[in-house]
Amino acid sequence: MGIVVYGSEIAKKIKLEMIEKVKNLKDNGKRLPKLVVVLVGENPASISYVKGKEKACTEIGMENELIKLPETISQEELLEVVKTLNKDDEVDGILVQLPLPKQIDEHAILHAIDPSKDVDGFHPHSLGKLMLQEETFISCTPKGIIRILEEIGMKDLSGKHAVVIGRSNIVGRPLVQLLINHNATVTVCHSKTENIESIASQADILIVSVGKPRLVNHNWVKDGAVVIDVGINRDENNKLCGDVDFDDVVDKVSYITPVPKGVGPMTITMLLENTIHSYNIRENK
Ligand code: NAP
Repeated sequence: MGIVVYGSEIAKKIKLEMIEKVKNLKDNGKRLPKLVVVLVGENPASISYVKGKEKACTEIGMENELIKLPETISQEELLEVVKTLNKDDEVDGILVQLPLPKQIDEHAILHAIDPSKDVDGFHPHSLGKLMLQEETFISCTPKGIIRILEEIGMKDLSGKHAVVIGRSNIVGRPLVQLLINHNATVTVCHSKTENIESIASQADILIVSVGKPRLVNHNWVKDGAVVIDVGINRDENNKLCGDVDFDDVVDKVSYITPVPKGVGPMTITMLLENTIHSYNIRENK
């Protein structure tokens, strides 16, 4: 049976270090790192994600503020909120929770965030720098996945074939860049890929970010592969599950992340790390 890698445990360790750092700042009378989350409307999934982020900030003692705005807000009004946060020296990280209502151009809002506060790593400036291997904010989920790989001893991925299923802007695409930067040989699959099962089954590292409950079964997985499951789904019984059929593949893999307690907790932890990183740059200028 493969080893189950709990992102929740790795996240706990990283958070302990962050608690210590924030406590030191507090003890020395310094300003504390601050994350501001902007929530538009009442989308239940967004409310739940935002609560998770608030809780994590509080756990490590970081300042955080939730700005709740009505579903009917105009693009201009939302842009004004972002501009005000950009100018606020006490704010280190700005996160606008997606999705946004139809009347708002998501790209226009994300592009308006000051890249030096782009702790989600979604700004073209951050994504371009990632492509060029320059220091920048890296999107939290891909960053968390790389940390999970490092934790199981896979720091240098030379000679490894990584297959990424899913090409979203927030997971698949930045992840491909990170994997290349770590010397992996990378194949990307998506909804238009043919023979996907056969491609997946050649992977030393298989990372799935699709959003389809238990899409990946043992036929997709090579013996001894490392499997990272990004998906967060509800199955037909309303049970939380990933994109990988965990029970069906666990005997075949060397390592596998579960859902829940796998990639999800790492994503939030990387958000905290990015905010502290922003704080450090701002304070040490
Ligand atoms: P997304 O924007 O929902 O896009 C899904 C991707 O999967 C697309 O690239 C799509 O291909 C591809 N796809 C769809 N059906 C497919 C199929 N049958 N075979 C192969 N590829 C297929 O992706 P996402 O935002 O990365 O989210 C994916 C899942 O991860 C969701 O369950 C989401 O909730 C979860 N998620 C979890 C975290 C976390 O922290 N754990 C973070 C982000 C997302 P096309 O591009 O061709 O349409």
